Amino acid sequence: MAIERTLSIIKPDATNRNLTGKINAKFEEAGLRIVAQKRIHLTKAQAGKFYEVHAERPFYDELCDFMASAPVVVQVLEGEGAIAKNREVMGATNPADAAPGTIRAEFAQSVGENSVHGSDAPETAAAEIAYFFSGLELVG
Ligand code: GDP
Repeated sequence: MAIERTLSIIKPDATNRNLTGKINAKFEEAGLRIVAQKRIHLTKAQAGKFYEVHAERPFYDELCDFMASAPVVVQVLEGEGAIAKNREVMGATNPADAAPGTIRAEFAQSVGENSVHGSDAPETAAAEIAYFFSGLELVG
C-alpha cells in the first residue's frame, strides 16, 4: 500500500480535557507519523469554510460554533494507507457505534463532540492539508 498523508484535527472537546497527548499516542501506536502539527483557535468563519460540504445539514451551525469554541490541534499524519488507517483509529462518527479501543470509543462525548476529524479520501486529504499547512511546514 502507498504512503499517504491525511489531515487530522483534535477537536475542542479533546483539547479542553487535555487529551492531545493520549490521542497522539493512539496515532503513533498505529504506525502513523505526525509530520506536521499546530494548535490554533479557528474563527467560526474558518470552521464554516472547512466544513462547507455540510452546509445544508441541520447540525452545520452547531458544528461551526463547536469547532470555534476552543483551540484545536491540526496535524498531518503520514503512513501506509494513512487515510483509511486514521479512520480506523478514530472509530465511527457516533461514539456509541465506535469499536472498542478507538479514539472516539474512549474519548468522544457525543456524535457532535467526537474528539477528532480525519480526511475521508485522497482528494479531500490534499485539499484539507492545503487549507491549514504550507509545503514548508510538512517536514516528514
Ligand atoms: P466524520 O467524517 O466521522 O467526522 O463524520 P461526518 O463527515 O459525517 O460529520 C462531520 C462532523 O459533523 C462529525 O465528526 C461531527 O462532529 C459532526 N456531526 C455529524 N453528525 C452530527 C449530528 O447528528 N449532530 C451534531 N451535532 N453533529 C454531527
